[in-house]
Amino acid sequence: MNVLVINAGSSSLKYQLMDPDTGAVSAKGLCERIGIDGRLTHKVPGRENVVADIAMPTHSEAIQSVLDILVDPANGVIRSTDEIDAVGHRVLHGGMAFTESCLIDDACIAAIEKCIPLGPLHNPANLMGIRACQAVMPNKPQVAVFDTAFHMTMPPKAYIYAIPYEYYEKDDVRRYGFHGTSHRYVSARALELMGRASNPEGTKIICCHLGNGSSLSACKDGKVVDTTMGLGPLAGVPMGTRCGDIDATILEYLMGRYGYDIKTMLNILNKKSGVLGISGVSSDFRDLDEAAAQGNERAQLALDKFIYEVKKDIGAYAAAMGGVDAIVFTAGVGENSMDLRAKLVEGLEYMGVKMDLEKNKTRGVEAEVQAADSKVKLFVIPTNEELMIAKDTAALAR
Ligand code: ADP
Repeated sequence: MNVLVINAGSSSLKYQLMDPDTGAVSAKGLCERIGIDGRLTHKVPGRENVVADIAMPTHSEAIQSVLDILVDPANGVIRSTDEIDAVGHRVLHGGMAFTESCLIDDACIAAIEKCIPLGPLHNPANLMGIRACQAVMPNKPQVAVFDTAFHMTMPPKAYIYAIPYEYYEKDDVRRYGFHGTSHRYVSARALELMGRASNPEGTKIICCHLGNGSSLSACKDGKVVDTTMGLGPLAGVPMGTRCGDIDATILEYLMGRYGYDIKTMLNILNKKSGVLGISGVSSDFRDLDEAAAQGNERAQLALDKFIYEVKKDIGAYAAAMGGVDAIVFTAGVGENSMDLRAKLVEGLEYMGVKMDLEKNKTRGVEAEVQAADSKVKLFVIPTNEELMIAKDTAALAR
């Protein structure tokens, strides 16, 4: 079976053609600068990448260019689009409507549209990707997989905000959480590695998705009981350019002092904050490591702040669940930065967490890195959101 996995942003669109049963990716790539001019980068394992400037006034031309290159005699991997069995879409915000993935029909689209106020930056772009696929592949089953869905098992005390209850009742203001597909994949994989996939009851796992965007989840009995992101993906730990949790008073204070409107303020909090904001160097953790190694104190402070906040949340989730059996590190930073992983668990011996620093010298591959006498397992698990999307898509399409 071939599933085309689509992750549509406002001006970009990522795709992967994969077998949901084996996880084998036959081709993947990226359309960029949609609505500006248009560029396609197409990658097939074992072949040279193809980069082509193709006019992409809208997402429809972008999708069409993806289909064209997938069937291209020289650069393609299938003979005809008939070989694509179904299409899976990553959708950011499912609000309270979606606790799992859904086969896309008019009702599903209407429900995604209803979530636009909750995900104003992403949901419209995700819908453009869906509509473009429906236009060029009208007869293929399409499935929406939501970033929020896996977190919908949180209990009310975790998802309610301490503001007037009417905003929850009338306006759906609550914690939703994001990166849910990643948290679902790595927590399920951790359960497999623990030999608890078929009986997760009683397990307590903390998943740390640490990338450009970062979030933690507390998974008890295999289900999310808390997560760090909130109504939107700006909340939680500091990120590459996002501020994470801050005192809401800061908004009023800075808006008053500088005459910022809310759009300008949110742009600062989304795009100019996080480790970039503190360091003034970069949002990229490799750049920060390099700058800190050369004595840049603000780069070091940014790293220290990130580590401090993630570590605090690990402690908070152990407290919330009454213990922890395993901590999982995933995404760009979690999978690759051995130094940062080591610092995240430094001093947690009192919780029974002890890393084997030799085993931790691993990058981008699945590994178990706790010391022999650690009570808590430490896993590095490369995330694979696309595979989860492909599997959900296949299951619903079948
Ligand atoms: P996104 O949220 O965009 O999917 P990723 O999960 O790809 O992000 O993570 C990107 C981050 O991972 C970047 O900040 C990058 O610096 C970091 N990263 C990748 N490799 C390493 C490494 N070897 N050491 C430290 N950080 C790394």
